[in-house]
Amino acid sequence: MSVLNTKVLVLNRSYMPVHVTSVRRALAMLYQDVARAVDAEYRLFDFASWSDLAAAEEGIGLVGRAIRVPRVILLQGYDRVPRRHVRFSRHNIYARDQNRCQYCGRQLPRAELNLDHVVPRSRGGLSTWENVVCSCHRCNRTKGGQTPAEAGMRLLRQPFRPQWTPFLVETFSQRRYREWRPFLNAVDAAYWNAELDS
Ligand SMILES: [Zn+2]
Repeated sequence: MSVLNTKVLVLNRSYMPVHVTSVRRALAMLYQDVARAVDAEYRLFDFASWSDLAAAEEGIGLVGRAIRVPRVILLQGYDRVPRRHVRFSRHNIYARDQNRCQYCGRQLPRAELNLDHVVPRSRGGLSTWENVVCSCHRCNRTKGGQTPAEAGMRLLRQPFRPQWTPFLVETFSQRRYREWRPFLNAVDAAYWNAELDS
């Protein structure tokens, strides 16, 4: 795969990841002055100053010289924290719960998990972020049509509506570049500590 098609993390002006793009697109954004490259010391570079950096271990040829591949860029004019609607889907519930049974805590392949209504549907429980969790088959059977209290089971944590986009959740499980880590770790913490919707 051409290095031009490899991935670059895109931050908003609050250094919050909002997107993943290609090196090709990232370089175009630098060139058009809509983004700045970010280095490991959180310094910002426009296209000219970035071009002046010696191409490090990863370099691509560009108009007769080498340019360092940016792995993180920061948008110049994007202040908003995106609050895209997080689809209430099986995939996203598994992602929220990190494929972990919310009763016994085991992390399992998705095929060995299913969705559990905390308050059973037969008891008026709704299909909402706050009432549906990932559960292993065994816990699901043990719980049956009961509430966790009736079954003598405890949730690892209260289920919640994710504050972040599925993109971010997916990004955590994908290959990440070393250069992404400082920014993703911050989001990771924000994600898990975010104040929950009631
Ligand atoms: Zn379980």
